[in-house]
Amino acid sequence: MNFNSVLDSVSSYEAGKPIELVVREFGIDPKDVVKLASNENPYGTSPKVTAKLQEIAHKAFLYPDDSFFELKDALAKKFNVQSSNLIIGSGSDQVLEFCIHAKCSKDSKVLMSKTTFAMYEIYSKHVGATILRTPSHHHVLDEFREIYQNEGADIIFLCLPNNPLGECLDKEDVYKFLDEVAKDTLVILDCAYGEYAKYKDTKKEIVASDVIAKYPNVIYLGTFSKAYALGGMRVGYGIAGEEIIKTLHKIRPPFNITTLSLASAIEALKDEEFVSECIAKNFSQMSRYEEFAKEMNITYIPSYTNFITYYLEGMSSKEVAYALLKRGMIIRDLTSYGLNAIRITIGSQEQNSKFFTIFKEVISC
Ligand SMILES: *Cc1c(COP(=O)(O)O)cnc(C)c1O
Repeated sequence: MNFNSVLDSVSSYEAGKPIELVVREFGIDPKDVVKLASNENPYGTSPKVTAKLQEIAHKAFLYPDDSFFELKDALAKKFNVQSSNLIIGSGSDQVLEFCIHAKCSKDSKVLMSKTTFAMYEIYSKHVGATILRTPSHHHVLDEFREIYQNEGADIIFLCLPNNPLGECLDKEDVYKFLDEVAKDTLVILDCAYGEYAKYKDTKKEIVASDVIAKYPNVIYLGTFSKAYALGGMRVGYGIAGEEIIKTLHKIRPPFNITTLSLASAIEALKDEEFVSECIAKNFSQMSRYEEFAKEMNITYIPSYTNFITYYLEGMSSKEVAYALLKRGMIIRDLTSYGLNAIRITIGSQEQNSKFFTIFKEVISC
């Protein structure tokens, strides 16, 4: 069968391997499998959210309030914007997809960093857009400037902090860059790990209300999947000027998050204490990974997120990842990004200790 030819060059997104797969393939007891591959919050869902879910489980037969009134209202207060500045998506991934469909066609160009979130490329290819990448793996704004001046772009993606590398640009540098971008170029600020970045360094804090007050062509994306520990619920959001939001709503399907997802996101916003505790623990555990890397002579990228990237030398990251997997330790190999590196989600104290033990075992054999 002939399919849409734009799909010829698309490879499907390679998600972090699920625990079930390791259980099936290697016969490891599920309780011995550690998954540090998808940047999930290792401390689990907030007990307040779990209680809420149990309370409303019987409402699964009802569609959610499609205006998402209560969630938007809570987010609007949190970010100091209006509800009309918000769109809700099934993960911020879906909002990304809306943006590309709203702005791009096959004559469009999108600009991104060489090594960044894989979905930018996949969604862009769906509409046949041309993908422009900077030469450096991490974000270098002067490289973005040069390509933008020479070639132009309909969309520019900035991943702040960047997945899968973990680096983050300073807010002031981002704002200066936004000043230079033409108003007909949509800039997507993907702040999936924004809560982590601002905890580590306030210079990294992109303020959504400031951005949208000044730049009608910019959208800020956030998610409940990472710091808010709701990856399985699939809730994300975009914050932008009304013109962008109105347009994106033309693409949004009805009831695009579930009744249970909606309730859990609303509840999660009432438990900010849980989120700050998780973030604090994340960075205290992160320092163990930095110490371990120094001890093992491994180069790592200082990270503003809930994961850390190790560059491996003298051993193949693909082989190391597989050897870890066989021992029940799931991490992310970055070979498909052209890097001999692994990305490890920062787990709980116990999970991280286990990683250090198994990693040492793997590289010594
Ligand atoms: C995890 C992630 C997202 C969004 O994830 P959702 O679960 O779809 O909200 C977006 N961008 C980056 C860079 C991510 O790492």
